[in-house]
Amino acid sequence: MGQPLPGNVRLPSAPPGRKRSDSVGFAIVGLGGYALNQMMPRFEQAERAHIAAIVSGNPEKLRRVGDAYGVAEDARYSYEAFEKIASDDRIDAVYIVLPTGLHAEWAIRAFAAGKHVLCEKPMALSSADCERMIAASRRADRKLMIAYRSHFEPYNLEAMKLMQQKAAGEIRLVRTEQSYRMGPTSPSENWRTSRALAGGGPLEDFGIYGLQSALYLTGEMPESISATTFRPAGDARFAEIFAHVSSQWRFPSGAVAQLVTSYDSAGTNFAHVRGTLGALIMDPATSYSGQKMRLEGQNTRDLSPGDPAVQFAGQLNNFTDAVRDGATIRTPGEMGLRDLRLIEAIYASAEAGRTVRLAPDGRRRS
Ligand code: NAD
Repeated sequence: MGQPLPGNVRLPSAPPGRKRSDSVGFAIVGLGGYALNQMMPRFEQAERAHIAAIVSGNPEKLRRVGDAYGVAEDARYSYEAFEKIASDDRIDAVYIVLPTGLHAEWAIRAFAAGKHVLCEKPMALSSADCERMIAASRRADRKLMIAYRSHFEPYNLEAMKLMQQKAAGEIRLVRTEQSYRMGPTSPSENWRTSRALAGGGPLEDFGIYGLQSALYLTGEMPESISATTFRPAGDARFAEIFAHVSSQWRFPSGAVAQLVTSYDSAGTNFAHVRGTLGALIMDPATSYSGQKMRLEGQNTRDLSPGDPAVQFAGQLNNFTDAVRDGATIRTPGEMGLRDLRLIEAIYASAEAGRTVRLAPDGRRRS
């Protein structure tokens, strides 16, 4: 809490212009790398979303970011003053961009203040916390969306469509990998290596994109999972989290998926689907930009269905359409809960050293 402004942040040179009268006012909670570098600059491109308030533990950051984004001085909140947002009518929704272990607590506080919640992925660190968040959203009668941006990104949307149309035939194999090599660090200096804030590590952070891809490309839920984890001894980066998590899934159709994620191998981010007639190769698959996709088979071709950069505003548009018009949220809390159940099944299998069988909603069968 109270981290300084990250060194690589470029703040806008002039505050954004005014939005239409039904624009949804957001309070941004957590002014870290993703909020400042990716999402906050994208609000301008959203149809009816604007930054109405910011919440941070660092007064200097509140001042600099608040000035740059034209946030009123009395809409710059400390974490201690957060509850006061309840009576601030400029704020309709809270966007939670905090370390993952804090999502549940702050989402529940936001619902208690009567606000809608857009929450970064992964939704939380346990399915129990996801259930508490969904219950709080229902009690408050406010919307809850998980910021799974790939559901608004043209390459992934096209891939979903192609797989539904059986463009590679019947799906037999899926392989996904999300890896990068983390520099020297430790839990006290980087929340991503702290079990309390990051869970098991790479799977929740980055591997969740592969988990999501395996689900939306096959359109199925796994009926069983077997997994292994690895944590090297004597490496401060992995004092609390895993270095690699690998799992094998079997789907009711007979398709299998192999998912690998690592914080200790050279960077990659791909999804491959192999069917009876061909293959879909996405590499990189779920980045902020630079996606590449190739359909191999009878009519091999590279596909470029649109600009990946639209994913950020697209997700804001879906959320604000839900808040203002009751539109269906494509990535609701229930999806975040489903994914946490699968993550828990992966860790349970690795710990027990055996295959875990699953019900269609992702709960473990006894
Ligand atoms: P970050 O470390 O850059 O920022 C975290 C912010 O939280 C910092 O400003 C820090 O001061 C604040 N904070 C408040 N309480 C804290 C505490 N107790 N410990 C540590 N920091 C605390 O992290 P980030 O990369 O911006 O990630 C934030 C969230 O966004 C995570 O849930 C992450 O999974 C998600 N994220 C999503 C994407 C995406 O593509 N959708 C990309 C990156 C991160």
